[in-house]
Parts: sequence; C-alpha cells; structure tokens
Amino acid sequence: MSYLVLARKYRSRDFEALVGQEHVVKALTNALTQQRLHHAYLFTGTRGVGKTSVSRILAKALNCTGADGTGGITAHPCGVCDACRDIDSGRFIDYVELDAASNRGVEEISQLLDQAVYKPVVGRFKVYLIDEVHMLSNTAFNAMLKTLEEPPEYLKFVLATTDPQKVPPTVLSRCLQFNLRPMAPQTVQEHLATVLAAEKIEAEPGALRLLARAARGSMRDALSLTDQAIAFGAGSLSEAGVRQMLGAVDRSHAVRLVEALAAGQGAEVVAAVDGLRSLGLSATGTLEEMVALLQQMAVLQAVPDALDESDPDAPTAARLAGLLAPDETQFLYSIVLHGRAELGLAPDEYSGLVMVLLRMLAFRPGGAAAAPQRSIATTSAKPAAAAPVLSKAIAAPVAAALPARPAVVASAPIARASAPASEPPPWLDDEPPYEGEALATTVSVREPEPQKMQMQMQMRPAPVAGASPTWVPTVLGDRWAEAVSQMNETASISALVRELAMQAQCVAVDEQVQPPVWRLRVERETLRAPAQRDKLQAALSELLKQPVQLELEAGVASDTPAQRAGAERARRQNEAEQIIHNDPLVQALMQQFKTARIVPGSVKPH
Ligand SMILES: [Zn+2]
Repeated sequence: MSYLVLARKYRSRDFEALVGQEHVVKALTNALTQQRLHHAYLFTGTRGVGKTSVSRILAKALNCTGADGTGGITAHPCGVCDACRDIDSGRFIDYVELDAASNRGVEEISQLLDQAVYKPVVGRFKVYLIDEVHMLSNTAFNAMLKTLEEPPEYLKFVLATTDPQKVPPTVLSRCLQFNLRPMAPQTVQEHLATVLAAEKIEAEPGALRLLARAARGSMRDALSLTDQAIAFGAGSLSEAGVRQMLGAVDRSHAVRLVEALAAGQGAEVVAAVDGLRSLGLSATGTLEEMVALLQQMAVLQAVPDALDESDPDAPTAARLAGLLAPDETQFLYSIVLHGRAELGLAPDEYSGLVMVLLRMLAFRPGGAAAAPQRSIATTSAKPAAAAPVLSKAIAAPVAAALPARPAVVASAPIARASAPASEPPPWLDDEPPYEGEALATTVSVREPEPQKMQMQMQMRPAPVAGASPTWVPTVLGDRWAEAVSQMNETASISALVRELAMQAQCVAVDEQVQPPVWRLRVERETLRAPAQRDKLQAALSELLKQPVQLELEAGVASDTPAQRAGAERARRQNEAEQIIHNDPLVQALMQQFKTARIVPGSVKPH
C-alpha cells in the first residue's frame, strides 16, 4: 500500500470539511460572503483541533480565482485553481506559515515583517500564519504591532496559539478571536469511521472508540494514531491490537491504581508508579486517564443504566464502580483533578504522582469497600504532616459548602416508613447542587454512618475539631491579614485585587530598603498578573502612607487571609452546631422522630 499520512491526506480542505468547529465556520463563512474582512485573526485551541487547517482554508478563500480563473473572494474555495492547489501543497508564494516556537521564529518574523511592505506576488492577499504566536519575544511582538496598527490592505495575519493568555493584550485587541474547540470523542470516532471507509480499511468500532478517546479532542492526533494502528495491525484495526498499541495511554494503569486505592494498598500504589516510571509513561497522562475512569465510575454509580454496552472499557469501569462508594469516587476524582496542577511543582513528576495518590489513601473517607478502620487510623495518625498541602483542596470547600438552610429538619417518618433506617430521608435529596472542590466534604456530610461523620471531622481543618489550625499562624500573617482587612474596608480596590490580597501569603517584609519590600506568595498564576500587583501595591502604599514595593512569587500559599477567614467561619459554624446539638428541644425532637437528623451544614451561625 503506498502511503500518504492520513492526517495530511484528510486535512480539511474547505470549511464544510472542518469537523466539529461549526461556530467558527459559520462566522468566517458569513464574513467572507459579506466581504467584511478583518485584517488579523487569532485562532486559539489545543493542538490538533484545526488551527492550521482553518488558516489555509482562509488563505484559499481570499485568493481563490475559481475553476475558470474569474472568481473572487469566496467562502467556498474551488480547490482546483492555481492558488487553491498551491496553498494546499504549501507552494503558494503569498501564503507563509511560520512557527514561532521554533528557534528561527524571532529572526524569521522580523524578516517576514520586512516583506510585509511589498504587495502580493501572485495572489490578492498575502496571508501570514504565525503559529504558537505566544512564543514570540517582546521585540518580535512590538515589531508585529507596528504592522498590525497600520496593516496594508493586502495583508492578513492569522495568529494561532494554544495559550492565548500569553499573547499581549495590545495584540489581542487587534485580532478577531476564534476559539476552536477540542472535538468530542464521538465526533472524532465518526470522522475516523468515514476516513477508514474511504480508505477501505476494516476497523472494529471498539478500536475506533479507543483511538478517538486517546486523541483527546485532537483530530490530527486521532488520524496519526490511526496511521500507527494501521501499521501495527498490518492493514486492519482490531480492538485488541489498538489496545495493545496504545500501551502509552492504556487504561490498565489507571485501573490498577484505582484497584490498589480501593483496597487501601499503599505498597501496590508505589509499585505501580515505579512501573510507570520504568516504562517512561507520563504521570500527567496517568492522572488524566484516572480522571476519565473515575468520571465514568461516578456516572455508573449514579445511573447504572448509563452503561454503554459498546464501550470496551465499560465493564471494567462498572466493576470498579462497585469497589468504591460514590462519595469516595468523588473524593478521588477531586484529588486527582487537583493533583495534575501540582505535578509541575514536585521535584519530579513521579514523586508528585506518588504524593497525589497516597493522599487519596491518607484522606480517603472511611470506605465501604476496604479496610475502613485502617483508613481512619491512617488519617488520625497523619493529618499534621499532610494538612498544609491539603489546605487548598479541603479547607476552602468546607467554608464554601455550607448551604443556608433551616436549622433543624424533622422528617415525616411516615413518608419513608418502608425504607431501611440507614437510607437518607428524602429531604436530603433537595440539597443545593454542589460542584467542584466542594464535593469531597459535602458528600461525606451526607453520609449518615457514624464512621463517616468521624471521618468528616478529620477532613475539616483542625479548628472545627477544636485543635490548632492546620497552618501555623505567623506574625507576618497577622500583619498581612490586618492590612488586607483595612484595605477591604476602604473599598477602593477591585474584586480581582481583593482576591489577590486574600489569596496571598506574606512571606517577607524588608524595611531595611527604600521603598520597603513586601513579598507575597500566591499560588494562582492568573492572580499574579502585573496589573493586579500594581493595583495592590498602590492600595498598600496608600494604606501605609508610604511607597512600598510589592513582589509576588509562585508557590503554595498558607496562612492567607482567605484561609484565616475560612477557619473563622468554620469555628463559628462548629460553635453554632454544638449549640443546636445541645438544645433540649432539638434533642427531644430527635428522640421523638427516629429518622430526624440535623441536616449537616444547615446550621448557620449569626
Ligand atoms: Zn480556487
């Protein structure tokens, strides 16, 4: 079989063929039809979603002369004129693709901009695609800005990036921006089926499903993987063959880890990670696969009928779903999701992976499946060591997860007369929906068994249990919290600056220098933007009535005003709950109605 790589052979050649990006296609088609052309376009989106393809189609649309050589700008490039064919084959002199991520990027961009003053050689328009534009140096951006500010009529810029946040606002503001979406596995799978039918290659649906999922939203990756699979399977695609080939992204590793975690086997977890390391498999990829698996498990736990019989992985997910309680699954999901961001901070990604996974064991809610006693014992023995790391994942949601509810609810026992006593009464079902980080704790609160309640106490920040906070209050923390509180009262700072102040840990104040330097540690990169820093610095200077210099550093922040506020809320909450629990009327009610319980979290302190 003579071979042209599928990803190239089946690259979308017109807007109609651009799979899964209908919103972009519609906007561009309308713009071209009405000849309302912008001079710079920015396409954002993860790799392989079609940024380069859109750029080429746009270049063709602008330069197509039609099959008979008389056509103008069109939303439907003919594909047969010289311009169309030359752009498709990468030979069109007025269409330049440049990868800013390559070493030659900076030099080439300045050369390219030098050329911008000249009219197109053969086409109507010069079209410059600058891929991974966020990688350009400041010098290069400035050079490009000059051209963007006063672009010649005949010049169109197409900028593409996987990371638009790194593109300077001055450039963003001059571009018409389109976000290309990652493609749904189903869309990818359907497209693969079409391509393989056209290639007359036999493929099992299970094989396509595996390939589509492994591509993670990138059609290009899907086609490349399919190429590999065809070579691997000597011309046909069997599910077993594809599964074997995808070793790198195989789910079996995630399955092994979830099994080990469900059984509470720390040694097996460590051994599994060693195995990943020796195979050179990505720690991030492993966590991503675990996220997908846990998500599937959670859906099957909630909706057993959702089992997709044709999904080759469904039976395994269903089996694992039986090993963990739903709240545990949610808890693991939350930890894995947060763990991905943390891998980059760890000394190496495998040690980071071990820590994330062991955290699941250490803080796992007392599970129905395996060794609950053991897991509670582990938790009680270790909170001091692991708590600071957990403060973000656990402490914050506790404060966020307290819904406003009536203090006591006595359910009507008649309504649930036939229900087993251990089942939660129906009024628990109308709790407000929770999401994201709040899951780990909220779910535990819903569990009626005493051991889970005990676990819940362990998972909350220590002030709730009456001990010292999980982070150590510092003198600098006192000082910063005081300053932030005063700045908040003046109300002259914006919400985002306030958020920065609340999420910052003051790690140093140097008053030996002029102006004094306050050093803050802030975890979220989005909060560390220079503009916010400047505003916070101005507010602090105003408060202190002298100029100060504010420096922001990346890192896990502790003893932040936000954490302090959360702990204070939790302490007041605990007090209020104690008062309610000890109230004679409440106790009498609970005696009388056996199924009556105080809805955990429904108590609101005044
Ligand atoms: Zn054409």
